[in-house]
Amino acid sequence: VGLLRNIGKLATCRPEGGQGDIHLLRDAAVAWRDGTIAWVGAERDLPPEYRVEAPIDAGGALVVPGLVDCHTHLAFGGWRADEFEQRILGASYLEIATAGGGIASTVAKTRAATDGELLARCRMHLAGMRGLGVTTVECKSGYGLDIDTELRLLRLYRRLGEEGPTRVVATLLGAHVVPPEYRDRREEYVDLVIGEMIPRTAREALAAFCDVFVEESAFTLDEARRILRSGQAAGLGAKLHADQLSSGGGAELAAELGAASADHLERISDGGIAAMAGAGTVAVSLPLASLYLCQPPLPARRLIEAGVPVAVATDFNPGSAPSWHLPLALTLACTLQRMTPAEALKGATIIAARAIGLEREVGSVEPGKRADFAILDAPDPNQWLYHFRPNACRLTVLGGTPSRESADA
Ligand SMILES: [Zn+2]
Repeated sequence: VGLLRNIGKLATCRPEGGQGDIHLLRDAAVAWRDGTIAWVGAERDLPPEYRVEAPIDAGGALVVPGLVDCHTHLAFGGWRADEFEQRILGASYLEIATAGGGIASTVAKTRAATDGELLARCRMHLAGMRGLGVTTVECKSGYGLDIDTELRLLRLYRRLGEEGPTRVVATLLGAHVVPPEYRDRREEYVDLVIGEMIPRTAREALAAFCDVFVEESAFTLDEARRILRSGQAAGLGAKLHADQLSSGGGAELAAELGAASADHLERISDGGIAAMAGAGTVAVSLPLASLYLCQPPLPARRLIEAGVPVAVATDFNPGSAPSWHLPLALTLACTLQRMTPAEALKGATIIAARAIGLEREVGSVEPGKRADFAILDAPDPNQWLYHFRPNACRLTVLGGTPSRESADA
């Protein structure tokens, strides 16, 4: 049995209500057994069986559920700092991609990297994220783009999840872009994704989701529909990178397929918003990508007003979002997307959990959920996201156990 007490404000982030309803409890305590939350309430009501000898003292601070980063491209070789400079000097993302840079250059470096190199980097990133309060991370493949490397990346994610303590959810993104060697025979690559990558991923139970990048420089709507339908038939939930650089009907396709989420959506159409609201698909906003690409962000207010839940994630990747700092993404969701701090927090907890199918296990502080928390050096969510600091997280708790990384934060 474990206990977290002396919580000034506890943002439980229970799912009911609107995007901004984070269901705050004052002077609260949380008790757990075997890593699973058993009791939540006002500390004065704590039942005697949870009065343990050495509880964790929150010091009157704000406590939130362990943060959920529901969109990252965690495993990749190399970086792309040279392109960062080229973009500053005026080259567009599309121009860089057309010239052989962009995703293709990361694919080459990822294929050349050893398992040990990739694992060491992923472990370092996950440890840094834990220090910020992030306890669950979705990780996409997509820098292999051949059978062996895509499966290799997914197996690395499985290993990271088994190692813990961060909860890892893997997504097959074999359809990230058409790899250079298939440039003139893209149908064959689509057939490879459908005929081999998806069946082998499903057979080894290596991923929970299948994702497709729908874009002029990547895959068409019809290709995405075929790939995602075959993924669903194999038991993989659907996700899309949609409407990022142009409005291409990706949000509508996500709704048609009953996808768990459609991500990016900077150029989502009115029809796309209505379709997603009807289907209950989560919109995943990626404000760091908007910041780095100097692009207008997705219309979060219109989505929320239409009843679409909006998650906030980092999109951590070496091109358009080379940072895994989820609290920074939350502050940007406030300033760029006009989400309130409470709305942003719910978007990185229970709504993010829903985007990766884990809403019954993580994302809120309720009995039955994993005992994942972040203790923040702030009195409330407004102060936390307004006064941006490198790290406002004092302690991260995963499955009832304090994280080692917190001490260094
Ligand atoms: Zn992405």
